Amino acid sequence: GKILECREICKDYVQGRLVTPVLRNINFSMESGEYVAVMGPSGSGKSTLMNLIGCLDRPTSGEILLDGALLKDCTDDQLADIRLNKIGFVFQNFQLLADQTALQNVELPLIYAKVAGNERRKRAAEALERVGLGDRLRHKPNQLSGGQKQRVAIARAMVNHPELLLADEPTGALDSASGMQIMDLFRQLNQEGVTVLMITHDAHIAEQAGRMVLIRDGRLSEADGESAGKEAG
Ligand code: ADP
Ligand code: ADP
Repeated sequence: GKILECREICKDYVQGRLVTPVLRNINFSMESGEYVAVMGPSGSGKSTLMNLIGCLDRPTSGEILLDGALLKDCTDDQLADIRLNKIGFVFQNFQLLADQTALQNVELPLIYAKVAGNERRKRAAEALERVGLGDRLRHKPNQLSGGQKQRVAIARAMVNHPELLLADEPTGALDSASGMQIMDLFRQLNQEGVTVLMITHDAHIAEQAGRMVLIRDGRLSEADGESAGKEAG
């Protein structure tokens, strides 16, 4: 079924009397289990769209349905719950806590979800094993490579079993070899049934997704290139 539906989404940024329209009448939906890449030049509104889908911001107009919930009818507290329980975030710069171990970083969403200590550590360790870091639980971010840090971030994003994994330029800070390993991991997660929405400006990265869409001048279109037809997960 459908996990996400964006209907006629518009987003303007308003700074005093200056109104900057960024997204214009975006229609976009995702089926559960899909792997979609969002491409577009810098400043085209990719992160803005991800922030709306990730319940970090609200559209100026239009509707978003996420796993059956109409976001405009949700209070800010309800959006925070959806963010915690249904969405996993992965960022270009990892956003790990520097003074916490890999295990503690991955436990964080479970602390917010009020999962008890023993269960929390067990689930965080399992998530780290799943991304190949079972032998790095006690390492802090500065003792890990870039690719390993991103795998910790992916474990943190997945530990709550979210409905949707949102990734914003997840390989942008990595060398190409580590970037490829991270892409392999996304593909593996997708094959295991995880729904993935990934932002990238790199066509080679986008080609690995099952479907590509393009944002340009605030409008979204389905990419119809050769690679857009590659098998979905
Ligand atoms: P992308 O992710 O494609 O690089 P963004 O969504 O970050 O694009 O930004 C799209 C446009 O919106 C840019 O012109 C950016 O400067 C502007 N923008 C983004 N966030 C804000 C904000 N909070 N306030 C004002 N303008 C913003
Ligand atoms: P990216 O292009 O990867 O999205 P940016 O540097 O454009 O990264 O944006 C980083 C953050 O700053 C985003 O959260 C975005 O919403 C915000 N931002 C971008 N442009 C502006 C702006 N003109 N005014 C305020 N916030 C902005």
